[in-house]
Amino acid sequence: MSLFCDVALAVPLDMVFTYAIPPGMEPVVGGRVLVPFRQQRLSGIVVELHDRPPQVVASQVAASQIKIKKVIEALDLSPVLDEQLLKLGKWIADYYLAPVGEVFRTMLPLSAEFKRSVAYRITDAGRMALHLAGMSGSPARSKRTPDEQLVEFRVLDYLAERESVREERLRGATGVGRALLLGMARKKWIAREDVSAARDAARMVKVAVLLAAEERAEALPPLDGRGARPHTSTVDTTAKKLNDNQRTLIETLAASGGRLPVEALRGLDVPRTTLGTLVRRGLIQLVDEPQDLTGSVSKLKPRQSPFEFEFSAAQKEALAKIGEAVASRRFAGLLLHGITGSGKTAVYLACMRQVLDAGRSSILLVPEIGLTPAVAADLHQVFGDEVAILHSGLSAAERAEQWHRIRRGAARVVAGTRSAVFAPVSDLALIIVDEEQDSSYKQEETPRYHARDVAVMRAKMAGAVVVLGSATPSLESYYNAKKNKYALVELPDRVEMRPLPEVEIVDMRQEFQETGQEQVISRKLAEEIRERLAKKEQVMVLLNRRGYSPVVLCRACGKTLQCKNCAVSMTHHKRERKMECHYCGHIKRIPDKCAQCGSEYVYFVGTGSEKLEELLHGMFPQARIGRLDRDTVRGREDFEHALNALNEGALDMLVGTQMIAKGHDIHGVTLVGVIGADMALGLPDFRAAERTFQLLTQVAGRAGRGQSPGKVVLQTYFQDHYAVQFAARHDFAGFYEKELQFRAWMHYPPYSAIANVLIRSEKLDDALTWSGELGRWFEKTRHEGIRVLGPAAAPITRLKRDYRYHFILKSPSREKMNALLRTMLAEAAARKIPRTQMIVDVDAVWLM
Ligand SMILES: [Zn+2]
Ligand SMILES: [Zn+2]
Repeated sequence: MSLFCDVALAVPLDMVFTYAIPPGMEPVVGGRVLVPFRQQRLSGIVVELHDRPPQVVASQVAASQIKIKKVIEALDLSPVLDEQLLKLGKWIADYYLAPVGEVFRTMLPLSAEFKRSVAYRITDAGRMALHLAGMSGSPARSKRTPDEQLVEFRVLDYLAERESVREERLRGATGVGRALLLGMARKKWIAREDVSAARDAARMVKVAVLLAAEERAEALPPLDGRGARPHTSTVDTTAKKLNDNQRTLIETLAASGGRLPVEALRGLDVPRTTLGTLVRRGLIQLVDEPQDLTGSVSKLKPRQSPFEFEFSAAQKEALAKIGEAVASRRFAGLLLHGITGSGKTAVYLACMRQVLDAGRSSILLVPEIGLTPAVAADLHQVFGDEVAILHSGLSAAERAEQWHRIRRGAARVVAGTRSAVFAPVSDLALIIVDEEQDSSYKQEETPRYHARDVAVMRAKMAGAVVVLGSATPSLESYYNAKKNKYALVELPDRVEMRPLPEVEIVDMRQEFQETGQEQVISRKLAEEIRERLAKKEQVMVLLNRRGYSPVVLCRACGKTLQCKNCAVSMTHHKRERKMECHYCGHIKRIPDKCAQCGSEYVYFVGTGSEKLEELLHGMFPQARIGRLDRDTVRGREDFEHALNALNEGALDMLVGTQMIAKGHDIHGVTLVGVIGADMALGLPDFRAAERTFQLLTQVAGRAGRGQSPGKVVLQTYFQDHYAVQFAARHDFAGFYEKELQFRAWMHYPPYSAIANVLIRSEKLDDALTWSGELGRWFEKTRHEGIRVLGPAAAPITRLKRDYRYHFILKSPSREKMNALLRTMLAEAAARKIPRTQMIVDVDAVWLM
């Protein structure tokens, strides 16, 4: 029995906390405990059990605090994070410089259970007190002021009519403080309880479990038709005494693998008492299990099976290579570079099927936008109930349910976005990261991990295989493959040898000179659209900017309408009649005159997807046009709805942001128009060229996936830019070589590790002072081989009310860079720069 445990709490402090373990309590490493922390009760993960009393420097801590606090409750009998996940969590904390408790919180989707909230209910003593007060007209105890007494009775009165009330609601309704409630609880007038525990119980279902299922299944003679059963002498004594009802129930259970929810057994034509009898006789046990989520996906109509077509030679080879790696039971990384339409998904599913057949587990990671109900339906079709699907549409409770399902082995195939990389599967054999270059794999809040890189590390720890799949691999991954850190597997052709679409570049500067005005839709694109519509073929048009107009400009004084919280223009949304900041969500009325000079000459400048849709409606009034962007898509269903409409021919044209570019397989689309996809090339971000190339390649890949060949019309103001040129030629290798040169010259990844350190504050003075102090410190410390750029105003200098200054660190040695960052954090703490006002982003994906 250990005396102490170290607990990781989800607080922004880079440390663990030591608590004493009361006698008789047995917390486990990797399990949760409830502990007092400041004025709260928090649950955290036990990372170590030991007998070392905490080292307290007496001068730093007041005498009263030296007394070590005790664990309130051990919440788990067995670890919720096994040894491997604990190790992975510690690695993340170390690599991304994140507090380990916050990492664990991210890894466990048990927030509903994790964050325990308190509720109060009135006790008998409380009712008595209330009753007496009502009789005497004045409360008995006189030590407190009448005000206090009044408040206490207000609480009792409120609770007397209710069963159990959450603390927040109770305080809101009665206006009392926490201390007063605690005082009342001490007097036993009211009782505190954990509501989250109670709510968990409500989500549990009773499951009937057949004991010794195997023996029983053998001992019982088979059912003969409608229940008439031949008597045999081989039946054991317990079975002999069963009546028909009891037999029916037991056989039903046996046929379902020995366990069924009690609710399901209610459907049988047997009396309710039968189950109780069997439980009393010790043949069946009732257990509580978290309710399974069978989600809405099962309602979707089945699609063509991903296996219904013949695999190409390249697909077969890829499958064989991955299968071989999995069978070796050693870590291996593979980069599956398959052009758009080459059938990567079918390869993924086939590999995962093999893993499942071998009795092992696999995880498929997809980008935020990739997990559509259609993909979910495919997964259900191939894996049935063995798949757990984790997506952003799940409530915290549903997430927790899926987590429990995975943990107890009911689902050995897991598909999901970023955080699915932490799924508690056992015997992990394979992790697949689809569209591995997608920036949604990087979490943009603490811990700022990259799910692709975590997947690689998890596979390493588990001796599993990781497959990174993409049509446009990230520079980092392709570089690793070229350096033989990953095996490179290529799918160089589209399925059924369909050709890649022809790409025609339209130079918009020339278009301006020839037409004499700024065009949104070039003459060439208009002509091509007209042609396709006449042939009853379908068109997609990409404009990667939502809203109607991105800028409102005063022609009198030149002032643009900026968000009051951010240094960015507000976007005009015409249909919703509002101005919206796309960075913080701030909304304003549409101005009729300039806020600065009062002039009425306010102009709406530029085009977003909403205006594009309107323009296309004007040009092609007969066409049925749909739009796909964050304004039209509120949930996954909207998304799927629009794509289905296109798939079924209910739409002629789909316009939208990059949402339309990702991974959909719509056979009728023969033309893709690209408008302003090169806008990113003007941004001060070293990944701008890579992102543009990827987006152009992705959206071009939507054309010509059916019988008719496709075409892409690419409008650009940067027609000589290599990202545009290589994308037009579908030349990944060419782009890659060119971009690597640039990265090498500029000391950017994959040649250097980078980190972005951002200092933010609502007070400009603080942001300036802190970044100045750190700048001078960096200057003084001058670490060998580490370049520190800054402090500089961040490209978006003000965001969500914060003024922002940043440093960019580049270093060929990641170890050295992380060591410097750690020293910097200690320095910042010593200078009392609040940790929450500093963002340390290792392997930053956005430098904005
Ligand atoms: Zn003005
Ligand atoms: Zn804003």
